[in-house]
Amino acid sequence: MATGKINVSVDNIFPLIKKFLYSDHEIFLRELISNATDATLKLKHLSSIGEAKVEYGNPLIEIKVDKEGKKLHIIDQGLGMTEEEIKKYINEVAFSGAEEFLDKYKDAGKDAGIIGHFGLGFYSAFMVADKVEIITKSFKDEPAVHWSCDGSPEFSIEKSEKEDRGTEIVLHIADDSTEFLEEGRITELLTKYNKFMPIPIKFGTKTETLPKPEGAKEEDPAPTQEVDNIINNPTPAWTKQPADLKDEDYNSFYRELYPMQFEEPLFHIHLNVDYPFNLTGILYFPKLTNDLSVQRDKIQLYQNQVFVTDNVEGIVPEFLTMLRGVIDSPDIPLNVSRSYLQADGAVKKISSYITRKVADKLSSLFKNNREEFESKWNDIKIVIEYGMLSEEKFFEKADKFALFPTVDGKFYTFDEMKEALKDKQTDKDDKLVVLYASDKEAQHSYIEAAKNKGYEVLLMDSPIISHLMQKLETSKENISFARVDADHLDNLIKKDEAQISKLSDEEKESLKTKLEEVITDKGYTIQLEAMDSDSAPFIITEPEFMRRMKEMQQSGGGGMFGMGNMPEMYNLIVNTNNELVGEILNTKTAKKRERLINQSLDLARLSKGLLKGEELTNFIKRSYDMVK
Ligand code: ADP
Ligand code: MG
Repeated sequence: MATGKINVSVDNIFPLIKKFLYSDHEIFLRELISNATDATLKLKHLSSIGEAKVEYGNPLIEIKVDKEGKKLHIIDQGLGMTEEEIKKYINEVAFSGAEEFLDKYKDAGKDAGIIGHFGLGFYSAFMVADKVEIITKSFKDEPAVHWSCDGSPEFSIEKSEKEDRGTEIVLHIADDSTEFLEEGRITELLTKYNKFMPIPIKFGTKTETLPKPEGAKEEDPAPTQEVDNIINNPTPAWTKQPADLKDEDYNSFYRELYPMQFEEPLFHIHLNVDYPFNLTGILYFPKLTNDLSVQRDKIQLYQNQVFVTDNVEGIVPEFLTMLRGVIDSPDIPLNVSRSYLQADGAVKKISSYITRKVADKLSSLFKNNREEFESKWNDIKIVIEYGMLSEEKFFEKADKFALFPTVDGKFYTFDEMKEALKDKQTDKDDKLVVLYASDKEAQHSYIEAAKNKGYEVLLMDSPIISHLMQKLETSKENISFARVDADHLDNLIKKDEAQISKLSDEEKESLKTKLEEVITDKGYTIQLEAMDSDSAPFIITEPEFMRRMKEMQQSGGGGMFGMGNMPEMYNLIVNTNNELVGEILNTKTAKKRERLINQSLDLARLSKGLLKGEELTNFIKRSYDMVK
């Protein structure tokens, strides 16, 4: 038996490893299974080029828990190691990783982030074990070796009786890590990190029901057999060629990734690039609701089929974190801190590549099947609008396929919309006025009024739409957006024939005074307008600018305006050509006038959705009294 001392400047590195990798202890299993996978794939390669004269067969990686003996075994049938190789790769090479870690540890004061994600590969086993053994036999014709190390820099090497090729790692689980002797915990880790690794991983056995033999009686139990319990799918969809996959395959892979998601994805994008970096993956567009916060962190990041993280912030542009799916790239480092990732050049290229791919896919969906694209618009618009706001490159592409639906279910692209509106909706400076509603129900009376005048009304109801309109107004020329209840339409849109007021200037003056005597609420600015006689007597509008600022404050962008809480401000448009308004003016008793004004004002508020609570109750009571 040979003994030796691992060459390191600190007496005992392991307590340090334990302490500083604390939050990530569980990754030891991922590291050891990665090594087992590498060893198996290397053997496959060597046998395929004829350098290893072995029967490759159908190798497995097996995980065994020995609860009583407090041991965890990771067994592979890969290329194994000779004594020389153990000395080189375990004692020297693997340990250089640990040494590098120590160097970083010395600088920990400067960048504490790096510690938590630093990869120690094989030595991460010492985070959970106080003794580790390697029993290995190389595919080369050399005796098997048994290496063992109890956590001090001392190790021993001796011959072993192991006969079959491959490596067995035995972890003597430390008293503070006994959770890793629980079957449930191991299953959890295997499902999290190893679900799509390329070599089958066996963890225990399971009972499988076989078909009944012919002639079996009804009451006879079906025969069963014990089979290997393989926990992974070694060939997940993203590793295959798009040409070999049908829509159904993509959908079933989606269910494999998200077993708790019952809704089918809307469509998928298969990513596949090998220059200037390597990347494969599948992204899915799920049905999205307007609640942006709940749907983040669903994209999983893999490195050569090993799960790394589901926090893809910084790798995928923010607006795409609402998508789901998998990204796999050998160029993404397994064990580094997030700040390092974000500064990494390869990672930045990945981000812009993904943005481009998503834009191209959307564009081809739009071109090839516009009808289907329109039918999905409501579920995908939030991602697209968010992308247009946050990524200029995406804006340029999406500008061609982003849709503007009307309240009647027609869909325009931006250019189509401009064309359709240019003759009927411009203001006195010939600027295009786009009317929109954000809530078809609440703004119903305003929508109807606009449609009666022959105007087109869009339906723009996503939570970030006011930001997008702001962007369109500044980046495009000669266009402005106005909500249907934002301004009085006749003031907004240029009309050839102006309405003539039935009232003289004196009468208007007197009407205004009378209205102001009753409506003392400072929140209302009273404006007299000559409209069609069948337009409503009173209409309440809210200036577009004020309302939009308020909305933008609520949806997050508010801080930058530094305006604090904005006051409620409304216009009360009074139609001087309406009969009821004439009555208000000409009524003899002040009491009746007051009642007419208050009732009309409340009706206008009701129509704008402003009448609530006690005021609404009083209004209803008053109305009953009047119809009695
Ligand atoms: P890395 O995997 O990044 O090379 P590790 O510390 O995980 O670093 O492993 C160090 C080396 O030990 C590996 O490169 C490999 O040569 C050897 N090794 C580890 N585990 C095995 C195994 N199961 N079979 C064969 N060789 C292994
Ligand atoms: Mg490794």
